[in-house]
Amino acid sequence: MQHLAKPFLVSAALCMATVLPAHAELDVARLKAAIEASVEADYPKLDALYKDIHAHPEIAFQEEKTAARLAAEMRALGFDVTEKVGKTGLVAIYKNGDGPTIMVRTELDALPMEEKTGLAYASHDKTSWNGRETFVAHSCGHDIHMASWVGTAKTLVGLKDQWQGTLMFIAQPAEETVSGAKAMLADGLFTRFKKPDFAFALHDGAFAYGTINYRVGIGSSNSDSLFVRFRGRGGHGAAPQATIDPVMIAARFIVDVQSVISREKDPTEFGVVSIGAIHGGTAENIIPDEVLVAGTIRTFKPEVRAKMLTGIERTAKAVAAMSDAPAPDIKITEGAKAVMNDPGVVATAEKVLKAAFGDKLRPSPPGTPSEDFSEFINAGVPSMFFNIGVYEPERVAAARDGSGPQLPPNHSPLFAPVPKPTIETGVAAMTLAVLSTFDQHARGK
Ligand SMILES: [Zn+2]
Ligand SMILES: [Zn+2]
Repeated sequence: MQHLAKPFLVSAALCMATVLPAHAELDVARLKAAIEASVEADYPKLDALYKDIHAHPEIAFQEEKTAARLAAEMRALGFDVTEKVGKTGLVAIYKNGDGPTIMVRTELDALPMEEKTGLAYASHDKTSWNGRETFVAHSCGHDIHMASWVGTAKTLVGLKDQWQGTLMFIAQPAEETVSGAKAMLADGLFTRFKKPDFAFALHDGAFAYGTINYRVGIGSSNSDSLFVRFRGRGGHGAAPQATIDPVMIAARFIVDVQSVISREKDPTEFGVVSIGAIHGGTAENIIPDEVLVAGTIRTFKPEVRAKMLTGIERTAKAVAAMSDAPAPDIKITEGAKAVMNDPGVVATAEKVLKAAFGDKLRPSPPGTPSEDFSEFINAGVPSMFFNIGVYEPERVAAARDGSGPQLPPNHSPLFAPVPKPTIETGVAAMTLAVLSTFDQHARGK
């Protein structure tokens, strides 16, 4: 971190104790230039960190080497690091006077899949997962998030005369299985450590590097898993009158459950139920005893979710009752809840990010995937979750107008972010977002 000699606030920052002088606006242009110069100077180290993590990914709750690597980086920066929070998670604290505690989260985990990018630093690693061997790859770009997280920590420490408060940098395991955030909270993330006043996280995506997508309110979907076991009475296919046919009950359910979406839910609200698996029967002339149906339920709003869950359950019971079958076993497992971006936190960051990135900062529609950063928000921490692009703008434009190939999205074996501009944007955007909140607080707003 190079020394940033000049102050970036137009007037005194430490106005909390005194009424005057009024705290001035951040000089965003100069601040951004200083952050960029600092990241540029430090980039070779971030690049090496990124490529090492990329080449040696670890899957949910196995991220021991990755966590140890990040712990060493944060200790070298002067953070007080606690390891093994929520199995493999990390909490790194840096105190710098009176002020709010701001949490910045990265994920640690990779995916159980084979990377096919052919990059020099591609992963060839394998691991044991759910009892079988699998390749592992950072095909969701969580390695980009980790490099940006370390870069942001370095930059904020270098700028410590520009803010007052506490940094709480956390590295979370098992995002892909939406269980790591819960594990950290269950292990005392907000009780053993001070609960943060605000939180930020970013995620990369298959759009142009240098651009940042964000939104107020809902940023990702609620996800619930559905399992229904329809029980009947098995028998001969030629004598259905002596049976209760669970295949027909399941078939009715699969069709009728869509009426919950089309007739009960407000058509202007997002909500889907997709049946992804149906298992039952062994032969053409045997009516089986039972049929298992499994699906996923996605929504944005809690009230829409509640309405859909009630309707789905009622439909399952009703189709069984129609055939005089026993009540079905219904299991709905809650996955991630929707990420709700706080209007105040977003408005504060938006002003600064707009001044720094201009039209490269873009409001975006909510995404239908799910994300367990919502656990921290639902624990009562006003937050902002935003996205950064990873591909060359020209390639993105060509894919959009059809003159070039489609670009591999997250979770594709070909997902291949361009590291330098992606990580640099991640560091600059996250640093400015955090500084905007410290600044807002210092001004007593
Ligand atoms: Zn993912
Ligand atoms: Zn991800």
